[in-house]
Amino acid sequence: MVDIHPCDAHIRHDLRTPLNHLIGYTEMLLDDLPPTCSNLLTTRLRTLLDDAHQLLETINRPTPMTLGRFDALFPDWRGKMALIEVDFSHLKTTVEAHWQSACPDVDKIGSAIGHLRGLLDALSARPAVDLGDPATMKARDASDTSGADGHLLIVDDRAENLELMQRRLVREGYRVTVCNSGRDALARLETDSFDVILLDWLMPDMSGKEVLAKIRSRFSAHELPVIVVTARHGSDTIVDALTHGANDYLAKPLDFPVALARLATQVYLRKITRQLAEANRQLKQFSYIDGLTAIANRRKFDEYLMTTWRRSQQEGAPISLILIDVDYFKRYNDSLGHEAGDHALMKVAKAVSTSLFRVKDLAARYGGEEFAVILPETSLVDALSVAERVRTTIMSLELPHPASTVLPVITVSLGVGEWRPTAFCEPSALINLTDKGLYQAKAAGRNQVGTLGSA
Ligand code: GH3
Ligand code: MG
Ligand code: MG
Repeated sequence: MVDIHPCDAHIRHDLRTPLNHLIGYTEMLLDDLPPTCSNLLTTRLRTLLDDAHQLLETINRPTPMTLGRFDALFPDWRGKMALIEVDFSHLKTTVEAHWQSACPDVDKIGSAIGHLRGLLDALSARPAVDLGDPATMKARDASDTSGADGHLLIVDDRAENLELMQRRLVREGYRVTVCNSGRDALARLETDSFDVILLDWLMPDMSGKEVLAKIRSRFSAHELPVIVVTARHGSDTIVDALTHGANDYLAKPLDFPVALARLATQVYLRKITRQLAEANRQLKQFSYIDGLTAIANRRKFDEYLMTTWRRSQQEGAPISLILIDVDYFKRYNDSLGHEAGDHALMKVAKAVSTSLFRVKDLAARYGGEEFAVILPETSLVDALSVAERVRTTIMSLELPHPASTVLPVITVSLGVGEWRPTAFCEPSALINLTDKGLYQAKAAGRNQVGTLGSA
């Protein structure tokens, strides 16, 4: 019978973790080496990388891990690693602490640890390549237009993972913030804005799944893409992550070029989504503006009146409305031409707008040569005085109107109405009331304010 180690799966994981870090650091060093660096160091790093990959393959093989195989795993590593001049001391400390707590009483593993410890000692004994402080590392090339300009949040409980990813992503031009717990990450989201989150799936305290659920309760997948990073390659985990709101996933150990490409896709989509939202916002703004007079149009008038109406229903506040109609405007067009009529309407619209002093008052083109003013939380008395101000402002423009029988300049007639909305009435009631006031002003000789009062 094969003597399978009782902690088989656990040990495989514990062996894989430092090896993955080793691979990550070695790849990063190879990328970082200056052109002046010796070919010998490059060759040694490549050999180390190949060997580490081979070792990883051995560990990953589905054959059960027997006690005897541990001794076979490490024998010739010490010599090879000793050739590499890199500071791995922090990695060594982590590996030692982790392994000792995982398997304190197994002699055979102790010997395997001894080999790895020796090899890490050899590495840390000869520090020569300065990796730099990730916080102060600059992007590789500021003029690089590859588009790596997003702000990333990396969440991982392991300091080595955070450091590795941060170094490499900063070098690619990303702005990177790191958090070592889900709780930290969620707190960070309160104060900072990020383009993409790289989220570790397996974390103590709060799992990646819990963090993702909290993120998705606040941000949609379009607003804040999340790439789940998981050492579990099974389709269950991947499906779980994707169905709970992850935009993509990456397998550990990270294949860095693949990680970069997937990250770039999410950052790009985020950028496009943001631009689209801004374009939509502008489009909506434009859809509310009257093309001729550049004040609010009828669509905006209808929406604003409805919003104000609903609010007034809740608060019991009055709304006042003013309807403004240019006197004998058909005759104006007939005598001076349609184009002159257009210009006159633009000036009248501007005069209506500038007669309003409160931000919440809205001047709109109601249709043709008619304008409207919505005055939220305004009594009839106050609305009448606004209407009178509008009338005199327009008259004082002194736009010549040779065909008017009121005055030789453009004048307007105005209707004013006030309403306290209840649950049983609609805005059309206020419009009808105000329109009657306007009719009264016209009938009484134009260039005046008419009202049937309030309701
Ligand atoms: P009243 O004093 O009774 O309001 O007389 P009126 O001539 O102003 O009223 P009527 O409704 O008969 O005519 C409105 C005119 O406004 C007719 C129309 O050609 C003109 N008008 C409406 N919209 C525009 C526009 O955008 N540009 C120009 N130039 N004229 C317009
Ligand atoms: Mg009219
Ligand atoms: Mg008119």
